[in-house]
Amino acid sequence: MAADPKIAAALQQISAQRMQANIDKLVSFGTRLTLSAEDPASIAAGHGIGAAREWIKSEFERYSKDCGGCLEVKMDSFTEGPADRIPKPTEITNVYAVLKGSDLENAKRIVLVTGHYDSRNSDTFDVSGDAPGANDDASGTAVSMECARVLSKMKFPGTIIFLTVAGEEQGLNGSRHFAKMAKEQGWDLEAVLNNDIVGGDKSAEQDHGVVRVFSEGVPIAATEQDVRRIRGLGGESDSGSLELARYIADVGRAYDAGVKPMLVFRLDRYLRGGDHYSFNQQGFSAVRLTDFREDFHHQHQNVRMENGIQYGDLPKFVDYYYVEHVARLNAATLASMAAAPAPPANVHLLTKDLENDATLTWDAAPGGLATAYEVLWRATTSPEWEYAQDVGNVTRTTMKLSKDNVIFAVRAVDRSGHRSLPVVPTPER
Ligand SMILES: [Zn+2]
Repeated sequence: MAADPKIAAALQQISAQRMQANIDKLVSFGTRLTLSAEDPASIAAGHGIGAAREWIKSEFERYSKDCGGCLEVKMDSFTEGPADRIPKPTEITNVYAVLKGSDLENAKRIVLVTGHYDSRNSDTFDVSGDAPGANDDASGTAVSMECARVLSKMKFPGTIIFLTVAGEEQGLNGSRHFAKMAKEQGWDLEAVLNNDIVGGDKSAEQDHGVVRVFSEGVPIAATEQDVRRIRGLGGESDSGSLELARYIADVGRAYDAGVKPMLVFRLDRYLRGGDHYSFNQQGFSAVRLTDFREDFHHQHQNVRMENGIQYGDLPKFVDYYYVEHVARLNAATLASMAAAPAPPANVHLLTKDLENDATLTWDAAPGGLATAYEVLWRATTSPEWEYAQDVGNVTRTTMKLSKDNVIFAVRAVDRSGHRSLPVVPTPER
């Protein structure tokens, strides 16, 4: 993948100072616990999750004003509970902005970035104690917001959604509701980037040049039939989420975001989860970006001093330049995908004969943007694509390589060199 100069220029607009202001503002609401206040008086006083929600909405609306109303700002509200961590029925609201694609056909395709704006301290039921949540997850919320501000100044054939959800700390409630809605409404959601704890926590062993990208191998949404095929073909490392992770790695090499993605072929960290899982459950490709190293004195802790150690998720531990770099990597990924053609459809590998070549067929990428296709391949033991060959504007090609020895994929390319997500073929007899 090569950098698009227009996208590279836009990335320069992403600002650590603005992101710091947004994180500080989110912290100023005291607590953003999903169960905290959302009545009009508390909203007016700037305290609790209701105030945070209204402020995020007003910021999205301000960005939209600056681009001639190009963003559609929406609320997705519903009542949840009672449940394990929700003692009484509680209104949960996701806030999002839609940058609709400029091309009628391609506008149906959606890429999405999300962070959770709710927070918690040591006690998931403490509705009034401070829960600054500067890193977890004001940082990810700030990524969605800054991507919206900067990318809304550009036009893309595909649609981008900038999402901030609540209820994550109570059980992924907001994202679950949103992902179900996307599934029920038949959205063509190509990718979900979940940023959760991307504040670059300033601890001694932090690597400020690396962001981890967690992604599931065998999809949670795979049917038994899918699992049989995955087992038979060695497809454990080719879920949609892993192809998305590889795409992010590719973007990380094409653009100098300031931070390098480190792929982790695993759903999430031990004992922890996140909103990407809600999207995986509905069958969507979704990954989690997170700090290289977490300091467990900070997240999910009451703010306090104990034995000379400062506990709590405070702004002073956030590296705002790191957050800026992570936002750049997100924006470059969203822009690359929204600018690219749709992936080719019905990609097949012909397997009816025993032969040492490999014949691939596919349908032209829908939407009309593709002007060529590339075949990618790698050794079955390699984590990332190793080779790419331009095969022209065709829908069938034969590679002089044994299909038994490598993993193939096909991706679409437009005249400016934007690449779609690659599609691994299904065997066809
Ligand atoms: Zn979180």
